[in-house]
Amino acid sequence: MAGDLGLTELAVLDAPAGAQLERPPARILHRFGRVSIVSPDPDAGGADVPRPPEEVADDLDETERLGLAALRLRESDEFLAGKRSRPRDGEPWEMADCTAVEPRPRLRRAPGALAVEPTSAFLEGSVAVGIVIVEGPTAALQLSDAQRTKVIAEVQNGLGFFIQTNPLAGITFSFEVRDVQLDVAADPNAANLEAVWRDPAMAQLGFSPSFAGVEDYVQDLRSRMGTRWTYCAFFTKYPVPHFAYASIGGPRLVMHYDNDGWGPDNIDRVFAHETGHIFGAPDEYASSNCDCGGSWGRFGQPNLNCENCAVGGGVDCLMRANTWELCAYTPGHLGWTPELAVPNFGTNSSWRVDRHPRLVADTTGDGRRDIVGFGYHGVWVARAGAEGGYGPAELVLDNFGYTAGSWRVDRHPRFLADTSGDGRPDIVGFGDHGVWLARGRPGGGFDPPELVLGDFGYLTGGWRVERHPRFLADTTGEGRRDIVGFGNAGVWLAKALPGGGFEPPELVLADLGYDAGGWRVERHPRFLADTTGDGRADIVGFGNDGVWRARALPAGGFETPELVLGDLGYDAGGWRVERHPRMLGNTTLDRRADIVGFGNDGVWLSRSLSDGSFSPPELVLGDLGYNAGGWRVERHPRMLADTTGDRRADIVGFGNAGVWIARARPGGGFEPAQFVIPHYGVGAGRWLVDAWRVDAHPRLTADMTGDRHADVVAFGAGGVHVSSL
Ligand SMILES: [Zn+2]
Repeated sequence: MAGDLGLTELAVLDAPAGAQLERPPARILHRFGRVSIVSPDPDAGGADVPRPPEEVADDLDETERLGLAALRLRESDEFLAGKRSRPRDGEPWEMADCTAVEPRPRLRRAPGALAVEPTSAFLEGSVAVGIVIVEGPTAALQLSDAQRTKVIAEVQNGLGFFIQTNPLAGITFSFEVRDVQLDVAADPNAANLEAVWRDPAMAQLGFSPSFAGVEDYVQDLRSRMGTRWTYCAFFTKYPVPHFAYASIGGPRLVMHYDNDGWGPDNIDRVFAHETGHIFGAPDEYASSNCDCGGSWGRFGQPNLNCENCAVGGGVDCLMRANTWELCAYTPGHLGWTPELAVPNFGTNSSWRVDRHPRLVADTTGDGRRDIVGFGYHGVWVARAGAEGGYGPAELVLDNFGYTAGSWRVDRHPRFLADTSGDGRPDIVGFGDHGVWLARGRPGGGFDPPELVLGDFGYLTGGWRVERHPRFLADTTGEGRRDIVGFGNAGVWLAKALPGGGFEPPELVLADLGYDAGGWRVERHPRFLADTTGDGRADIVGFGNDGVWRARALPAGGFETPELVLGDLGYDAGGWRVERHPRMLGNTTLDRRADIVGFGNDGVWLSRSLSDGSFSPPELVLGDLGYNAGGWRVERHPRMLADTTGDRRADIVGFGNAGVWIARARPGGGFEPAQFVIPHYGVGAGRWLVDAWRVDAHPRLTADMTGDRHADVVAFGAGGVHVSSL
């Protein structure tokens, strides 16, 4: 270990480029000329890791020598002791706005000038870092060799934090260290304290003695290093306007060696903080005068952990305090994208919402859910791997597809459901001529589909998606999912048979149908959910005059529907499908499904009670509603899922900026919604690529790993993202 990061770091000479090897034995963290600091891949066995040089070689240049000496320093007891007793550890930063020192490059650009290629738009990939140590003619303006080594060691430690925090970002830093000796006297009264030493320093490096020279320098650095991004950092003992500051978006940061009251042992965290600015992150500490708005970083997200306005002053975060923590927002500001779990099933590989249903199910019985898609050529599955991650998408059945079988989203509902009680999901498809069943095989895959019922079909029976909702639900409590269809004449039930297949459908209720009762898909949501805790799925329908419920009978079928709530209906309360999602979920531990409605004023909750009734709906959250928060069905999917493993259903909402969670309270109701993932939102930002649309990008929640916590599964452009909540 080097420093107080969790990485194993080794110095190697002439590290091979990773692309030359199938699997590089070590990841390169920092490059100092020919000296690289690498982190061995534990799975590679370590045998192929190039040996570190035993001693500092004689022919190392200054950058190489300092890079190596810095690693050695970071391995020393002295350095580690300094980290263990950091001054003011954990305290919020207390400085004037460390991004306000002029000039602000974006404002400086002349109107009409060509847009300048960004030098540090987001922190992913390779980054060139120019460390420019600026010394003066007096002892007070000079750094000893030990101090120069300390600077580089602190920089390694600070930037290593980002690499360690997000290994998926593929970050590598390539350094150049320049030591500039000036004969300019310190002038603490100069109008522009930075220019006093900056301009002559740039001249010595061969660039224009101006801020523009700094921009030219970092561009030159990038082209010499061949990196994606570039910035530079000045370290000096000359008087500076603030002990540490940076320009948002680059190109430079400035630090005084003494690091004010934080001390040299905190240079790493201050350097990391300032580097956060370089890549677009805003300050979050109170004295920066931050507010919770704005449009920051690659995805244009607000500053919701700002100490001045976040609930409770915000949480621990490098942009707010002297800590090795990142809050939920800073990764978004830095432009970190979530991991692509499967590079398939996305719009880039021709998957379309109006053609290709996509969902998740444990098709192999290993406790982890797989990704399943109904594509052009049939059913594709990407299996969850034992070590996490997913295998490639494989075609497991050449049917139920857009081309393979001519299945259409607007005609042919398709489901994955265990219809036989063997614990494996089967594919159930409502085709033109009836119900097709493909039984799930042990270990994965499906049997060839069979037509098991000549009913419930588009042609056979005249069933229509826009009129006749169809469900698979266990209405008997026997562990098999039956077919429940809301037809013209009422509710039809086809019970699943123990050996597979279904009993012939029966009309079990002459109500809740298109003609019987006048129920309409576009006005009257209908659900199957166990509202009594007996293990059987009941029918819950949101009609004109409120909520109707038909309890499932032990022997099969349903009781006569009764009006259980004179609210949450089309007339009773003015609830609209296109504005007010309604759903059922267990928000308490009583195993009875409660009703959650997203109304104009926020979230309404009606608890199912032990006597079979429902409590009057209560407004439990003044948020996530049509007016309260501006949530829209066509832009902001909302769902219920247990995100904490406490078996209570929480609310998960996909807002503009990303994912919000309102956790279910043990005593009932929900906590205020918290912003948890700065992705998967419709995007208030300027980056269209990150705009998630309901009509293009299915998003769902499911426990993907078997840890009883729901994860987000999002089908984006490049493929499937899976993020834990
Ligand atoms: Zn700052």
